[in-house]
Amino acid sequence: MLIFSDILTIMDIRTDFLATIGNTPLIRLKKASEATGCEILGKAEFLNPGQSVKDRAALFIVQDALKRGTLKPGGTVVEGTAGNTGIGLALVCNTLGIKTVIVIPETQSDEKKAMLRLAGAELIEVPAVPYKDPGNYVKVSGRLAEKLAKEDPKGVIWANQFDNVANRQAHIETTGPEIWAQTGGRVDGFICAVGTGGTLAGTAMALKERNPSVRIGLADPLGAALFSYYTTGELKASGSSITEGIGQGRITANLEDAPIDTAFQIPDEEALPIIFDLLTEEGLCLGGSSGINVAGAIRLARELGPGHTIVTVLCDYGTRYQSKLFNPEFLRSRNLPVPEWLEKKPSITR
Ligand code: PMP
Repeated sequence: MLIFSDILTIMDIRTDFLATIGNTPLIRLKKASEATGCEILGKAEFLNPGQSVKDRAALFIVQDALKRGTLKPGGTVVEGTAGNTGIGLALVCNTLGIKTVIVIPETQSDEKKAMLRLAGAELIEVPAVPYKDPGNYVKVSGRLAEKLAKEDPKGVIWANQFDNVANRQAHIETTGPEIWAQTGGRVDGFICAVGTGGTLAGTAMALKERNPSVRIGLADPLGAALFSYYTTGELKASGSSITEGIGQGRITANLEDAPIDTAFQIPDEEALPIIFDLLTEEGLCLGGSSGINVAGAIRLARELGPGHTIVTVLCDYGTRYQSKLFNPEFLRSRNLPVPEWLEKKPSITR
């Protein structure tokens, strides 16, 4: 006999909001594919319900805590985030009757902060300082969770996305297997940038388990230390990037044992024209980290040569950065080139 959930599956109706996370399409990126003679495919993570790849980690972190019994309906999740994980957590927690408290560096885009407030998160903005500083947003969120846990009997957890491996487990169990199934196993390379490392490490582990010769690349923005680490063994950073949510200075628990074969350092000047062309020529409105990722996929394609299939991640939707990435004044203030079509639309951010 069919039960109701089987009927929903037959009818292609998701059982609830949580079931709409993941199973995103792979999109062939025309210009990048034609330029390299490879098939360059973007995993459309901006189509998740919270509009970013971080919905997957948010779901797995919350489900893991519920399973362990450290979190229950009525409880609270505290997290330090560049924004996307917080948005994912707030939406997931809304469906479960759980509160969210989000600590965010004040430099992150106003659009992400507005979305966090809209989603019901309590938002605490802190100055953007390096990880070694006790005022760093990750450290502040950890201490706050500890303090609230002592005061609140209903249960408070620190999501701790950087060092909680439930994050990369999301990609071991979902993103990696989805890519394998969607390409029929015909995937030669996978590359993306690192924030926590969950997406890169988890997806890489799942793909390598199915075919150890899949080449895994890191696409690192300037200002991050991982390119240096994976090429020389030394964690060293220089330069800066306007991209948000990526650029790591340490080996997080999620990155430990990540099977990374090659690494590229991508300047914003290389990534931003790709973002602009994807919007105006292919209809894909994406955030800055997606530009670093597609630029990385092009570099990996050149390393592998024509005829290969390379998958990367289209991390989040571009409207989240209208006041920065798509704002001529902001770009000029960072000495970055402004495309002609954007220059002609000074009112684009209003
Ligand atoms: N791109 C964006 C826009 C992000 O917000 C993040 C996560 N902070 C990433 C990429 C990196 O993902 P991960 O944390 O899995 O390394």
